[in-house]
Amino acid sequence: FDLSDDRVLAGIFDARDRAAPVPQADGDAVTNPANGEIVGHQLQATKAEVAAALDTVRPWDAPAGERAAILNRAADLYKADAGAIFALLAREAGKTLPDAVAELREAVDFLRYYATGAAALDRPALGVVAAISPWNFPLAIFTGQVAAALAAGNGVLAKPAEETPLIAAHAVRLLHQAGVPEHVLQLLAGPGEVVGAALTADPRVSGVVFTGSTETARIIRRSMAAHLAPDAPLIAETGGLNAMIVDSTALPEQAVRDIVNGAFRSAGQRCSALRCLYVQEDVAPHLTRMLTGAMDQLRLGDPWQVETDVGPVIDESAKAGITAHIEAARAEGRVLHQLDAPAKGSFVPPTLIRVKGIADLEREVFGPVLHLATFKSADLDRVVDDINATGYGLTFGLHTRIDGRVQEMVDRVHAGNIYVNRNQIGAVVGSQPFGGEGLSGTGPKAGGPEYLNRFTRPKAGG
Ligand code: ADP
Repeated sequence: FDLSDDRVLAGIFDARDRAAPVPQADGDAVTNPANGEIVGHQLQATKAEVAAALDTVRPWDAPAGERAAILNRAADLYKADAGAIFALLAREAGKTLPDAVAELREAVDFLRYYATGAAALDRPALGVVAAISPWNFPLAIFTGQVAAALAAGNGVLAKPAEETPLIAAHAVRLLHQAGVPEHVLQLLAGPGEVVGAALTADPRVSGVVFTGSTETARIIRRSMAAHLAPDAPLIAETGGLNAMIVDSTALPEQAVRDIVNGAFRSAGQRCSALRCLYVQEDVAPHLTRMLTGAMDQLRLGDPWQVETDVGPVIDESAKAGITAHIEAARAEGRVLHQLDAPAKGSFVPPTLIRVKGIADLEREVFGPVLHLATFKSADLDRVVDDINATGYGLTFGLHTRIDGRVQEMVDRVHAGNIYVNRNQIGAVVGSQPFGGEGLSGTGPKAGGPEYLNRFTRPKAGG
């Protein structure tokens, strides 16, 4: 999709408007975070239904070539259904059009990438995998988890986030339509504490793939440990507390563009998003002025509108949590800049907050809030130590034109993904797999060559 081509854009909007889903009657209402309207309804699985699904779900015994063909067909169906997918991503998840396009592209890439990997696997499937996904990439992460597990020949019970079950249900329909058997893939929507907990506590689940908070990953690990299936892997992608360093040799326009994208795009609701920016003291006044100027250009509003850069956060409770963080900073006089937000809807205005360093952030604030610290050249080592001391290790950004500094930082900073003089967001399936270290996750990265192996086990005796 080339969004700079007006005809392409008009076609996307036309398809999206026509595809706007009609609310159904059964199940819990799912609301649009931009305006509170009801987007649709989703039935919640009960514990008994989870147990019944565990009785019926089977590993996928089709040959690898057939599995690959079906996943590739699903990729085609996803693309052909872009209008409905963009509508759901906007209305259920608050995604702007560029975000929705990027997300669909990533989902399609995951399907094709894991389809290609299926043929090369020489180990059997784990069995039945529980795939537990978050709301911030309700299509791409959901699809990546499910596609990897299926490509390796597993049966899958997919538990989407409470906030975004409709897009997941839509994806499962497309996967079934492509030829994934119903007894191989089932959707179990519902609360994490009910559906997720029932899945992870059941010894018939032979592996869990999870993306979400570090705290939930801990709960899941304990739950899996209790049923004594020590070889059932937990493939986890969790939170981050991501930093960027901009030194006085950096190109300011480029740095500011990447800072704004990294911190505010997707309303800051990316695991990879920039949370704490360190700017070298001598360029800080100039860079901060440019940054606040660039923030002022951001248009905050309904993601359904094409001109919107920043949409709402996922719901009222997310808004309340982020707002409390901002107000605590305001009470201490540390809010440096803030935009206006629409009065109605779950909007949080992009905000810049002064901090001494990343240690001032007690936790990941999952919204459009950027923290700004300054450093002196002599303190660079301490800054790196502070960044590593968070214990997280997901993404790290660096803007510098000092060659030796790049290698030094790559060697020293603990982070799964490092971005030098470029946008601190996004992974590229196949060429730039995504994943973290420490509190941010375990094991080979999603979208990388070793990932599929996690969904298999050694041959008996092998
Ligand atoms: P987030 O902060 O992204 O909402 P969570 O970790 O709360 O992160 O949620 C990620 C996914 O984990 C969601 O699908 C959620 O329902 C699920 N989840 C929450 N609690 C549990 C649990 N106790 N067991 C299994 N899954 C859970």
